[in-house]
Amino acid sequence: MIKIVIVGAGFAGVSAALALEKKYKNKKNVEIVLLDKHNYHIFTPDLFEVACSEEELASASQVKQSISVLIAEIIKGRKIKFLQGEMAKVDAEQKLVTAGRLVIRYDYLVLSVGKQIDSIETPGAETHALAYSSLSDALRIRNQIEFEVQAHKSDVFKKNIRIAIIGGGCRGVALAGELSKVLNIIAWKNLYPREKIEIEIIESSHRLLSELSEPVSEAVLDRLAGLGVKTRFLAQITKIDPGMVELKDGEKIAHDAIIWAAGSRNKIPAFSRGVMVNNKDQIITNEYLQVRGLDSRGARYFDHVFAAGSLAACPQNCQVSPSSLWRQAQDQGEYLAYAISRMMLNRRPAPFQPKNFKATLTVGGKWAIKENSLFEPGLGPYLIRLMSKFLYFSDVLGFWKAMRLILFQGKIFSRND
Ligand SMILES: Cc1cc2nc3c(=O)[nH]c(=O)nc-3n(C[C@H](O)[C@H](O)[C@H](O)COP(=O)(O)OP(=O)(O)OC[C@H]3O[C@@H](n4cnc5c(N)ncnc54)[C@H](O)[C@@H]3O)c2cc1C
Repeated sequence: MIKIVIVGAGFAGVSAALALEKKYKNKKNVEIVLLDKHNYHIFTPDLFEVACSEEELASASQVKQSISVLIAEIIKGRKIKFLQGEMAKVDAEQKLVTAGRLVIRYDYLVLSVGKQIDSIETPGAETHALAYSSLSDALRIRNQIEFEVQAHKSDVFKKNIRIAIIGGGCRGVALAGELSKVLNIIAWKNLYPREKIEIEIIESSHRLLSELSEPVSEAVLDRLAGLGVKTRFLAQITKIDPGMVELKDGEKIAHDAIIWAAGSRNKIPAFSRGVMVNNKDQIITNEYLQVRGLDSRGARYFDHVFAAGSLAACPQNCQVSPSSLWRQAQDQGEYLAYAISRMMLNRRPAPFQPKNFKATLTVGGKWAIKENSLFEPGLGPYLIRLMSKFLYFSDVLGFWKAMRLILFQGKIFSRND
């Protein structure tokens, strides 16, 4: 029995599992195992919708259901075995993966655990700022924002409530845009003057979205200004104290809520011997997405271990976009199904050739912008994003379930606007 183990049921992992299942559904001697620490697959690009939902308009479980799908739903009727557990270690020499009490043997291993925050280097950030990268982070932000406004409700002077978003990249910008919308509702519900709730993006470089083009950055800056979001550039944060952000020039800025949407150190899966990692905490791979490891014979590529998605750094010629996009992760997962199937026949696969995906970013309500698009920013790119999401869920769940999910999202998400 040939066992293909995929660790991480995100975009790369699910796409790899589904593409492999299509190839081997009628083969009795191939087993596909998908391992994840959660029992759901999450559409991370929509996390801002969770963070910016209002508790009376959408319950925590409704918002969770709107952006996640149970893995049991995905594998229903498919020849994929799901195991829930958090991978602790890979032994590439014995070909074993450990997750708690589970020890899983593999013949081919796909590592697609994405980026998981290990630590944030800025002093005080981990304790006094709200991280923003997972579903639980988004739910925590939602609670904190609502709490801040409720806590100041009875303040006779109605002081300014200040929310800082650290990092003007895709995550920070999408969050700020949607937050400005939902705060209209939260302020109205709590009889708090909306103009007294401020959102400020604090960015260390001279512009927003430094990974995207200047025209996109400028259009987004205009959009945010129109939504009343403030921006502060060239602001290097040296320390975060409770309710206080300290800048390199010594300036201290008081905030009621501080959200960390900037860089972090990410967890690298532990190997019995080392693996080569770049300065962005990604595992270095070759053009077949095989992991570059260090074993008793020195540095070499592990033939049977692959990395895909935002965990993986493939060679220069694979890097089409500096930002990590979900479509790239999906593309890499699908490639691996092809590459592994070739290797199983002792044939060399063609090297991975990434497609040139462009980022699409939603900034408040139904306004989106797509890099190099013929469409003006606004509803057009928003609908394109919606369509690509629908096509993705159609692949994963089938047409009707995808349609139901998108309609449900429409109902829940539009309550924030
Ligand atoms: C807040 C936020 C907003 C984003 N917005 C956008 C956007 O608008 N557009 C865009 O293109 N991209 C966006 N991204 C990036 C996008 O989400 C990633 O590029 C994509 O998720 C990468 O896919 P992946 O398969 O590598 O990892 P993920 O989708 O992150 O999946 C990783 C999976 O591994 C599992 N896992 C982790 N560790 C373990 C372990 N030890 N054991 C078992 N399972 C484990 C996790 O539970 C998860 O299911 C955003 C990311 C974030 C965090």
